[in-house]
Amino acid sequence: MNSSIAYTALSNYSDTMKSKQVIELPFLHDNHSHASLYAVLASIPDISHLTRKQSMDFIMSLPADELTVIRGWRTAELSFTNQERSILPPVLLINYSLHGFFLSDKAIPIIEAQLPDVAEHADDARWQEIHVPEIFATYCAFGTASANDFKTLLATLEEQGIGSTVDMAICTPGLADIVAFSGLSDRIEFWASPDVYKAMQLQTKNLCMGIKLFLDGSIGAMSAAISDTWPNGTNGILTYTDNELEALLWELSTFNTGIAVHAIGERAIEQFLTCVKKMILQGHSFPYIQMEHVQFITEEQMEQCRDLGITLSMQPNFNEDSVIYADRLSEYHRRHNNPFRTLIDTFGFKPGKDLLFGSDGIPHSIAFALQCSLFPPYPEQELSLEEFVAGYGKAKFAHTTLCKYEIDRNANRVTMLPIHH
Ligand SMILES: [Zn+2]
Repeated sequence: MNSSIAYTALSNYSDTMKSKQVIELPFLHDNHSHASLYAVLASIPDISHLTRKQSMDFIMSLPADELTVIRGWRTAELSFTNQERSILPPVLLINYSLHGFFLSDKAIPIIEAQLPDVAEHADDARWQEIHVPEIFATYCAFGTASANDFKTLLATLEEQGIGSTVDMAICTPGLADIVAFSGLSDRIEFWASPDVYKAMQLQTKNLCMGIKLFLDGSIGAMSAAISDTWPNGTNGILTYTDNELEALLWELSTFNTGIAVHAIGERAIEQFLTCVKKMILQGHSFPYIQMEHVQFITEEQMEQCRDLGITLSMQPNFNEDSVIYADRLSEYHRRHNNPFRTLIDTFGFKPGKDLLFGSDGIPHSIAFALQCSLFPPYPEQELSLEEFVAGYGKAKFAHTTLCKYEIDRNANRVTMLPIHH
């Protein structure tokens, strides 16, 4: 959606073969993140840096009569016996990955009163994986964020080179109102789940980019709908059956707004393309279609996306998934993760036009994403500096500060230098 943003030449960028060079970039626009979720999470306790004993001591010290929401729960380090679970105060622990949570026994009646569906599926990982918007809304129902929390978040993003951002799933209609009416909407664009979208007031809806759906799971949870079988014996999760998705898209097309879909695996991408082609044949479509992640998109699917005018929104930092998830991805999938060269060189996708870049907040850092682009695990994933900047686009507000980055071609590292305001 930021096709009008032209890439401006770097003031001191040169092509000399020095191993280290310092470049200047403007603040960039992160095309995929979760501002409302991160703003809410910033205000709640984080146990990710604590040992198991420290975490237990902290949790046991919490009030016995009200629910406390905690983030940074690492399942490998902190699991609970049924006995422990029954004596804990009411706590909701949010997984470090943000997907998935834990409820103590005493938390269940409290959650049940407000969100019976969530309480019922407290131990159902599959349900949690395909109900991401409901899970995000749950986190926000028991915590909140003010306009100031959003401003604090934006300041943190600036330290990482980001001047404006897109919330791909604004958690609640109330948080959408805060973004819409606190002078934040020039720096935070937002999309919403069908439920949140329908519940928004008209003025807020007018600022909303469109409706976001999750079609499959994640690589981390081995639930992305890929063509392979995951080491756990499954081949991922499709959130909807073909008929359900078709009916839903049909309904959403009547709102005449944009549609964005999370689709990582080939099977999820295929399901969506099949539905969209069917709709077009019947004379229906969306004013704008964007697909998120598409990490394992095949060449056939690239061609279809291009011909259908679909914008691809991808995360160069996820090049690293080929390394981090070597334990669960086949050689084929490691090699075909984020096939940027084929998209650009063979199928003509243009960064900043129909190929957008963002971080998903994992992490937000521009330096890390640039490092993954210039020095990727596989050559197919490589982006030039110009392509990288064009795909992010310049931040959507006037700001004169330039960020400096040191590119070290010997160490394959990109570091951001401190900003002097
Ligand atoms: Zn996301």
